[in-house]
Order: sequence, then C-alpha cells, then structure tokens
Amino acid sequence: MYIVPERVIADLMTREAAFDAVEKVFAAMAAEDAYNFPVVREAIGHEDALYGFKGGFDRAGLTLGLKAGGYWPHNLEKRGQINHQSTVFLFDPDTGKAHAMVGGNLLTALRTAAASSVSIKHLARDDAKVIGMIGAGHQATFQLRAALEQRNFEKVIGWNLHPEMLPNIEAVAAEAGLPFEAVELDGMRAADVIISITSSFEASLMADHVSPGTHIACMGTDTKGKQEVDPALLVRAEVFTDEVAQSVSIGEAQHAVAQGLIEAADLTQLGAVINGAHPGRSTDDQVTLFDGTGVGLQDLAVAARVVELAVTQGIAIEVDF
Ligand code: NAD
Repeated sequence: MYIVPERVIADLMTREAAFDAVEKVFAAMAAEDAYNFPVVREAIGHEDALYGFKGGFDRAGLTLGLKAGGYWPHNLEKRGQINHQSTVFLFDPDTGKAHAMVGGNLLTALRTAAASSVSIKHLARDDAKVIGMIGAGHQATFQLRAALEQRNFEKVIGWNLHPEMLPNIEAVAAEAGLPFEAVELDGMRAADVIISITSSFEASLMADHVSPGTHIACMGTDTKGKQEVDPALLVRAEVFTDEVAQSVSIGEAQHAVAQGLIEAADLTQLGAVINGAHPGRSTDDQVTLFDGTGVGLQDLAVAARVVELAVTQGIAIEVDF
C-alpha cells in the first residue's frame, strides 16, 4: 500500500485537481453511482475530543474508503499541533485490500473550498463582480482563494463577528490584486456571491441582506445546531446541496426543515446540475443557495487524486502490508 504523508500534500495537490475531483464525485452522487455511508461522530471522553468516520463508495471513480479523525480542542495550546486532525484510508474495491493512507488535514480544507467553488461555477451569475465573505478564520481563506478563480470578481467585501480576523481574507484579496472592504451585514446587499464559513450557532445573514440574483454558499454548518443564515432565506432561494440527507439533518437546511418552511423534496443535489439533469439557476434575479455540508466522498475523491499524483511523481511511500 502507499502512504502519502501530510507534509508532502501542499506541494502535490492543486486547487484545480481538488475542484475536478469534487465536481466529478458530486456528479457521481447525483447519478447514484456513488454513495456516502452513515457518519459516525463520537465524543470519546478523552481530551474533549470529537472523533469519527466519514466513508463511502464511488462506483464510477472506483474509490472506496473512509476519513477518520475529528477535533481535539487542546492540541494547539498543549502540543503546538492543529486541532482538526484527519487521515484518509483508501481500499481496493476489487479485493478489499488497503490501498493508501493519506494525510487528510490540508485535503479537508481544499475539498471544502472546492465544493463552494463548484457551486459558484454552476449557480452564480456569469457577470458576478462582488464576492462577500462571512467568516474570516482558517477555512475562509481557502474558500475565497478558490472562489476567486470562478468569475471575474472585481471586489471582495467581508463581515466577521470578530472583526480583528478580517485581515486574513483581506490578504487573500490583496494576493489576487482585488480591493477589500469590511462591511456590516446589510452591506452584503452589494454582493453577487456570498460564502458563509463560520462556526456560528445562530443566523447572521438575514433574508433581506441579500439582493436578487445572488448566489450564496453556506459552508460552515456541518453539525446539528449550527446555523449561519435566516431560515427565510431558504424559502426565498432555490436550494441546492451536496447531499440531501446531510443537508436536512446537520446542514443549514436543518432549521428551515425543522420549522416546516421547506422539506427535503425542495432540495436539489448540485450533482444534478453538473449532470445536466437540473437546469440550475433559472433567471438572473433568482437567489440560489448551496448548502455544503461536507461528505466523505469528497475526502476520498481528493485523496485518490493525491495518491495518483504522488505515485506518478515517485513521492508515495510504498509499504508491504
Ligand atoms: P476557525 O476557528 O478558523 O474560524 C471560525 C470562524 O467562525 C471565524 O470567522 C470566527 O470569527 C467565526 N465565529 C466563531 N464563533 C462565531 C459565532 N458564534 N458567530 C458567528 N461567527 C463565529 O474555523 P474554520 O476552520 O474556518 O471553520 C469554520 C467552520 O467551517 C467550522 O464550523 C467548521 O466546522 C466548518 N467546516 C465545514 C466544512 C464543510 O465541509 N462544510 C469543512 C470544514 C470546516
């Protein structure tokens, strides 16, 4: 089997490769060629850690495996290590033998950024000029960098509950040569595309903070109880998601569904748009919303790609197993 350690991933994996892998696996999910296994997530009663598995099988891409890992809140202060830790394990779908073990930390950031980018490619207006960021933490920088490649954006605006973090996304705008402006939430009306990526448990973005024709990618809500936007926004918008089951249980749609405002049947898998089975945006005035909950198949797709790259470049460590 192959080992691809975390330390080599930054030099191997590109945003383009992550985008392509995620777009393909979303399409495979909508075509029912790929499916995610039920997620396991446990508070293990040690180091306050949350540990779990996200797995699946992609029959089209022949990718089988799981991502194991989670959140250790004391890593940074106690050991100088990052709090999110994950490893991807891939198996040969023909034999069940272990195929690869891959560092999953950077890959998680890249696959999450790729998901909102794929949604922008397929759902945002072609003439989108202003991108709005809600959130300015670790993941926000990845989301913004990838999103800027999808349209000819001319300006970045941003809001964060902790304004002292906004320089993180201002720096990404500067890298791309774009102006940045910090705004209040109602200033998001100037945005053609909005990405929310926070760990919030209550809505920040209200339905009247959004102009007609905007595409919103809600990326922070991946657990029961988390929330970034007003449930009324999911009534106003045409709602797309990576996976309907996750969207209504742990994604942004959980709140609108619980309040009886929408139901699972109102949601469309983004993969159906990629496959051409759903037209996507119908008018320039329509508000579209992508609820990106993060599925195991995304992790497997980017890990499989990085193993291919590592093997081709002679970087993968081969072990007899
Ligand atoms: P981070 O800790 O680096 O940043 C957290 C962000 O949330 C900051 O902008 C912070 O100001 C903001 N925030 C914190 N508490 C808040 C509150 N109560 N209300 C509003 N904003 C608040 O974390 P990160 O790595 O950037 O991750 C952000 C979120 O994205 C997390 O909730 C994480 O679980 C989620 N995430 C989702 C996916 C996915 O696939 N959907 C993947 C990775 C991370």
